[in-house]
Amino acid sequence: GCNGITKGKIIEAIEKKGLFTRDDVKRETKAATSCGGCSGLVDRILEATLGANFNAVNADVGLCACTRYTRDDIIKNIRERGLNSVKDVMETLGWETVGCDTCRPALNYYVAMARPGTAEDDVSSRLINERAHANIQKDGTYSVIPRVYGGVITPSEMKRLADVAIKYNASLIKITGGQRIGLYGIKKDDLPSVWADLNMASGYAYGKALRTVKTCVGSKFCRYGTQDSLDLGITLEKRLERLWTPAKVKIGVNGCPRNCAEPGIKDIGVTGVSGGFEVYVGGSGGIELSAGELLAALKTPEEVIKVVSAFIQHYREEANYGERTFKWIRRTTLSAIKKVVVDDAAKRNALCQRLEEALAATSDPWTNTARGAKKPEIRQWASPVRL
Ligand code: SF4
Repeated sequence: GCNGITKGKIIEAIEKKGLFTRDDVKRETKAATSCGGCSGLVDRILEATLGANFNAVNADVGLCACTRYTRDDIIKNIRERGLNSVKDVMETLGWETVGCDTCRPALNYYVAMARPGTAEDDVSSRLINERAHANIQKDGTYSVIPRVYGGVITPSEMKRLADVAIKYNASLIKITGGQRIGLYGIKKDDLPSVWADLNMASGYAYGKALRTVKTCVGSKFCRYGTQDSLDLGITLEKRLERLWTPAKVKIGVNGCPRNCAEPGIKDIGVTGVSGGFEVYVGGSGGIELSAGELLAALKTPEEVIKVVSAFIQHYREEANYGERTFKWIRRTTLSAIKKVVVDDAAKRNALCQRLEEALAATSDPWTNTARGAKKPEIRQWASPVRL
């Protein structure tokens, strides 16, 4: 191995120190603790030495059948070796195939997350909706759902939506569950013109990204409101839009505990209470229902923005690609997450700083396309590596 650990030394450690798992071997010998490329070899030595006593349950599993490297190994290599693209990762880590729809989108996300500002987005490694910046429908047309910050829209934006729906023969105009307006039945070739005519930001309804911040009208309008949920929700959405995340992220912000914007089933739910806010995380109203759990009780909107920012960056850095917040929280525990984003000011500030770097590297895909800088890429990957 790269730490100079021989097979003989590993076998000796297994037999003399009573080791049963790869983690045991790592701890005692330092084997498989650099790039992780020899992890599979360590497993085979364990299996050959222990026979039926080998604890395969604890062996890390490669990202997919295309590689023996785990998610953590891959991110470590991306950071330490400065890998800036899917192609770099696959060539450097010796991918055994052209990739699959498990590893290619995951690698593209991990590179962007670990190397903001220098990562090269491999559009062909994204799944169809992210390549098209729109959701494909069952008849092959697309839906177009622009950003409507906090669910608050102007008369001029509503007029543009209506004009575009008429001009491009949208077959359906629908108010979505996230307080957006969706145009359905848009032809693929019309997408760039639709985006240009709308002149609104992409709503990312198609991506593993911040989807929506749903708000109630809060203390500005509602007699029960104790906090300004409109202002806080819009601020959060403007701050976090365009951010790629391991899985889709939905936020709800409410002016009082009556919770009209359903924060209890959002990835991040903010509830205004007398004298402050409660921040809940890990809610989901999808296939698997999950009630959000209290992450923090805070006094000011600024504190909420900071804790939410740190939470979302921690999730971006630690969750597996495709893992929703509630599953990540169950796996890592809420108390462990709380220690990082709530209890430790230095770690929270560092997470917020890294979030700023990630945000600085984003740009709006609809605007880029409408300005002619980029065309939507519908084609899926061909091999980026020499085979
Ligand atoms: S959550 Fe409270 S403040 Fe917001 S609309 Fe409902 S009752 Fe009013």
